Amino acid sequence: MSRFERLAAAAEPKPFWLLDAPPPRRSLRGARACSLAVIGGGFSGLWTALLAKERYPERSVVLLEGNRIGWAATGRNGGFCEASLTHGEDNGLARFPAEFDVLQRLGAENLDAIEASVRRYGIDCDFERTGALSVATSEYQVSSLREAGGMFLDTDAVRAEVDSPTYLAGLWDTEGCAIIHPAKLAWGLAAACERLGVRIYERTPATGLASSAEGVLIRTRNGVVAARKAALGTSAFPSLIRRLRPYTVPVYDYVLVTSPLSAAQLASIGWRNRQGIGDSGHQFHYYRLTADNRILFGGHDAIYHFGRAIRSGYDQRPATFAKLASHFFETFPQLEDVSFTHRWGGAIDTCSRFCAFFGTAHHGHVAYALGYTGLGVGASRFGARVMLDLLSGSRTELTSLEMVRRKPIPFPPEPLAYLGIQATRWSLAQADRNSGRRNLWLRTLDAAGLGYDS
Ligand SMILES: Cc1cc2nc3c(=O)[nH]c(=O)nc-3n(C[C@H](O)[C@H](O)[C@H](O)COP(=O)(O)OP(=O)(O)OC[C@H]3O[C@@H](n4cnc5c(N)ncnc54)[C@H](O)[C@@H]3O)c2cc1C
Repeated sequence: MSRFERLAAAAEPKPFWLLDAPPPRRSLRGARACSLAVIGGGFSGLWTALLAKERYPERSVVLLEGNRIGWAATGRNGGFCEASLTHGEDNGLARFPAEFDVLQRLGAENLDAIEASVRRYGIDCDFERTGALSVATSEYQVSSLREAGGMFLDTDAVRAEVDSPTYLAGLWDTEGCAIIHPAKLAWGLAAACERLGVRIYERTPATGLASSAEGVLIRTRNGVVAARKAALGTSAFPSLIRRLRPYTVPVYDYVLVTSPLSAAQLASIGWRNRQGIGDSGHQFHYYRLTADNRILFGGHDAIYHFGRAIRSGYDQRPATFAKLASHFFETFPQLEDVSFTHRWGGAIDTCSRFCAFFGTAHHGHVAYALGYTGLGVGASRFGARVMLDLLSGSRTELTSLEMVRRKPIPFPPEPLAYLGIQATRWSLAQADRNSGRRNLWLRTLDAAGLGYDS
């Protein structure tokens, strides 16, 4: 075993964020009727239920979660709550040039509204509006950061913020990102939902969805819900609407968390402004401080398993953890005494345009939002608003957006999906080795508006 394999293996194989989960709520038994049924107890479903009750306090809302609130991507992510609705500016500009400014404004309003809700409902989720620091670790990345506009930091300036020998430059977006404890946000949203009257059932997978005279019928293992409308926030899991399944693939992303840094260890890297940090490679890392000054360090590998498979066994991947450990010590050699305490992975709902898509089914009685591709912590609240607008049947600013009206290109069936994704992953790694130069395969995908990311 290498040193990095040993260090990663010593960590507990569970998500740090989910350690203090509240006791489970009861599961659904028997029949229920409601105005709105929400399926999925991650950020998508929780924001939908909360905003529905804020909009229509008199309407009854039921939320069905197949496992536990926030157990999936919502309780496993890096906790970067970003304003961007489009998986970053470059992707938004490339895909929606005509409405990019509107999407940026809506994204900034969305992040402000999340902060306001956290305050209004008194949710203790370690919300820190630190902004985000993008760093260049290869020469070719420096110019794109310089050209991006915003607060460009040269080598000395970026290392004065956070001292890594790998940094060549940085771009600090002081407004567009907060770091949060994602599971505490999810649990706090669930509690706020219940205070407004939402009935939440955990360990209640919805097994079927059908049209009915009054709206829709949702079957569960031991019950049934008759709802006027339904909203689906089921992310990377197989959609209850079969025709949506080709639009996303589950992509596994992995994270390590260190023990809390001592004051001296923290001082050795600076990081006084506590920004969320991301590097600028195709296979990028993201890292941030927790409230008790651990470092969460994740990203790089984005693993797809043949046949869109999702298995609890995939949450652990020793080879990726060892790689992350080695990259961590390259980034912060000053922290050679630091150990890792937790390691985990989780499935991301990747779509080929990297940002969410939306729509309705069952004669407008069901709405869905899917495909956040690794940047759904903030954007899922926007997606919740879109679903409620779609269900209202009215034309609104959100339902008029091209981003809402247009769908991404679906992934092909197997074995093409698997082969295509492996070729793309290989090409992205090559591009990182070749000063960012994209090979013919990536340029062909770019021209077709297709991509693979986490
Ligand atoms: C390791 C990792 C790091 C990430 N880092 C970031 C980050 O820093 N910033 C960021 O913005 N995003 C990040 N993401 C992505 C982000 O976590 C997701 O975009 C976001 O949490 C999606 O929320 P969701 O509610 O759509 O999905 P989920 O949290 O996956 O929730 C879906 C829920 O639906 C339930 N469900 C599915 N099917 C059914 C059914 N039939 N019946 C009942 N329930 C069902 C599931 O049990 C699950 O709880 C990361 C993701 C991972 C895995």
